[in-house]
Amino acid sequence: MNTECNVYKKCSGCQLLNMTYEEQLKWKQIKVERLMGCFKKVNRIIGMENPYHYRNKVQTLFREAKSGKIVSGVYQSATNGIVAVESCLLNNKRADRIAIAVKTVAKRLDIKIYNPKTGEGFLKNTLVRTAHNTGENMLVLVTANEKFPKKEQFVSELLKLYPKITTIVQNINTSPNKMMLGSKEVVLYGKGKIQDILCGCKFNISPRSFYQVNPVQTEKLYNKAIEMAQLTGKEFVLDAYCGTGTIGLIASKYAKQVVGVELNAQAIKDAKENAELNKRNNVSFFTKDAGQFLDELTQDEVAPPDVLFVDPPRAGCNRLFLNSVVKISPSRIVYISCNPTTQQRDVMFLTERGYHVEEIQPVDMFPHTNHVETVCLLSKVSK
Ligand code: SAH
Repeated sequence: MNTECNVYKKCSGCQLLNMTYEEQLKWKQIKVERLMGCFKKVNRIIGMENPYHYRNKVQTLFREAKSGKIVSGVYQSATNGIVAVESCLLNNKRADRIAIAVKTVAKRLDIKIYNPKTGEGFLKNTLVRTAHNTGENMLVLVTANEKFPKKEQFVSELLKLYPKITTIVQNINTSPNKMMLGSKEVVLYGKGKIQDILCGCKFNISPRSFYQVNPVQTEKLYNKAIEMAQLTGKEFVLDAYCGTGTIGLIASKYAKQVVGVELNAQAIKDAKENAELNKRNNVSFFTKDAGQFLDELTQDEVAPPDVLFVDPPRAGCNRLFLNSVVKISPSRIVYISCNPTTQQRDVMFLTERGYHVEEIQPVDMFPHTNHVETVCLLSKVSK
């Protein structure tokens, strides 16, 4: 039993904290084996050497207690309250320290904490994003309205207290929604974004861009995915569900051409910026439903992709997508999934239509939680 956290029963963020880390890995291994073991022997899960403080994105909620003290922590839907947490086993330590610094300065300058019951007050919550490989730190202050009392003083006192903050952004969220960010942002200090390096590529991260939360394990996952793709520099690669283009951009160093497709327009904007940042000119990105994009590819005269990366959300891929994959018939498919149940369903579909599972590799991206990520290599059965 891991007793290092005294709020784990209330917080419900870490479902497996009652097991040792070794037991957790075994639990996840069995979970993947039960679902994916019918295709091939499952590799041993890649665990984390130091499975703590890995989260590079931390949201902290503030409330004022009756005593006037500011309490910070995580939202609890069951009580519509917050569980007080100042230092979480999962969070990057710099991120937790920054949230405490915000609390200290808010108290000192008498900045009012937002009260969801009355709708009064100013400061709602913070989002801190840290870059693992560059050490940059972004603080987003989520406020109920735009008029920031003692703004300059707040920023300068905060930087004095925690000089490692690289940029500070004010996000205005007028809706009563608990942890969500609003659409309006004002940069108060620095560039308004941070940069991280993943598998040798640079990535800009702004307050709302999607970026994997465990950078140490993401590198292991992506390295495994790239290894499975067996790129020689000659291939046309398609990165489906590409997000901000991370996998495609990393793969582009070893491929002839990469095309990424993703539904979220903002993520594609970030992906294009990231391509420029890394001076990659053999990559292009498109905003579209992945199934529709592939379906159109089957009707085009263009040469089909040799290698396909697939990294869908929990729901997995739809029939249009899978049918188009079978029509396009890439030599190799590298399927990354955060949900082995839908991955099993989709892989079954492909194995019944000319594909063979070569390798299955689970990776522990979220230690202490019940989530497990799996990357699976499929190749076309030669006729
Ligand atoms: N490959 C990326 C992101 C994976 S998350 C990475 O490793 O960082 C899954 C992504 O699929 C999300 O960015 C989501 O916006 C996108 N998505 C969801 N439904 C989609 C669809 N129907 N077509 C294309 N992309 C979709």
